[in-house]
Amino acid sequence: MRTRARRCDRAREYASVRLDGELSDFESTLLDSHIERCPSCRAFVDDLVGVTERLRTAPLERPLIVVSLPQRRFAALRTMQVSAAAAAVVSVIGIGALFGMLHASATSPARTAKLGSMGEGKREFRDLRRAVLTAPHPERQRGGLGNLSV
Ligand SMILES: [Zn+2]
Repeated sequence: MRTRARRCDRAREYASVRLDGELSDFESTLLDSHIERCPSCRAFVDDLVGVTERLRTAPLERPLIVVSLPQRRFAALRTMQVSAAAAAVVSVIGIGALFGMLHASATSPARTAKLGSMGEGKREFRDLRRAVLTAPHPERQRGGLGNLSV
């Protein structure tokens, strides 16, 4: 009795799979053999085939109402997309400028003038850094860190 129920379950599963066109020839033969002997499964398969054909041939329904998302969600999504694009553009420009500075010809007069102004900025930065490092600091006055001046 239990084996018969298992065979019936398998036959019904096979019937469903065959309707999707995915049943092998061997499984299809097993299914046909079973439904010849089992009136209950034959009735099930007939019903299943009938319902499936009606569903597949029925015209598509059109919804009576149009579903649309609130505009705020689209606006937030659009803002995120624009922000991401802007960040990508800024990154590309920054990387391009960095490579341009690194690979520019050192012999051009404009490059030499640029290096001169950068050298001045660098010197100013070094002087400022030195002033900060040599300024009296509570830790250094106590002798905790020693002399850190450049
Ligand atoms: Zn059966």
